[in-house]
Amino acid sequence: MSQSRTAIVTGAARGIGAAVAKRLAKDGFAVAVIDLDAASTAETVKAIEAEGGTALGVGADVSDAEQVKAAVAEVAEKLGPPTVLVNNAGILRDNLIFKMTDSDWDAVIGVHLRGSFLMTREVQKHQTAQKYGRIVNLSSTSALGNRGQANYATAKAGLQGFTKTLAIELGKFNVTANAIAPGFIETEMTAATAERVGVPFEDFKKGAAAMIPVGRVGTPDDIAATASFLVSEEAGFVSGQVIYVAGGPRD
Ligand code: NDP
Repeated sequence: MSQSRTAIVTGAARGIGAAVAKRLAKDGFAVAVIDLDAASTAETVKAIEAEGGTALGVGADVSDAEQVKAAVAEVAEKLGPPTVLVNNAGILRDNLIFKMTDSDWDAVIGVHLRGSFLMTREVQKHQTAQKYGRIVNLSSTSALGNRGQANYATAKAGLQGFTKTLAIELGKFNVTANAIAPGFIETEMTAATAERVGVPFEDFKKGAAAMIPVGRVGTPDDIAATASFLVSEEAGFVSGQVIYVAGGPRD
């Protein structure tokens, strides 16, 4: 392939982002591992390098326009123009609506929605110049509504509209955009939710698995495999889709 094989994965210090970064490195991409703090990316970078891959750790808050600009410029300079972007960075600030604070709302919308917007606006410059690109946004089954998550559900539903619009606007540049909407995935994020509701994580996972048709919770590798397909060259006719990776059907 003649295009640059550089991928950016945000929130890739751990969890789903780390699994996606490692998988894309195995697929042959030079991977920029972006997270809030450059030091926190070391583990993912080391794991990729240990397998013979190329990785660059970059510290940036995806909700900060200046930091995003600097991060994408550094990636382009050190790894080559990014053609693949996975907007994965995320946070939770769960609360019932009557207890949700302004900052609970703003922080979640800021990281998921503003963060994905800022990252995409920077990266699409390189993608359109290369006439090739793949964008994957992390939505969630919570987009369909979830108690205690008015902020998060709104952001994750918003990302679906964002994805479809990117697909329409950028298609003529040979850039596709798709969303992955995971169900319950075993990560520090879901462990923190179990802790917040006061249920041991093992019991929390068992309870979740009982509601899932395939009878288990998901793993970060389940999401990485889906991302790997969506960013591949052969997925070039799949765009504007929301793929629920949840062990069963979702509307
Ligand atoms: P984790 O909390 O395990 O990891 C999220 C990562 O994002 C952390 O490394 C975190 O850094 C980083 N991050 C947070 N804020 C920012 C920011 N402003 N700029 C850069 N990086 C940031 O989450 P998961 O791996 O579980 O989730 C990954 C994505 O998948 C999220 O978008 C999440 O909403 C989505 N998802 C997860 C599901 C699940 O069941 N786990 C289900 C559906 C969707 P730090 O450690 O410094 O906070």
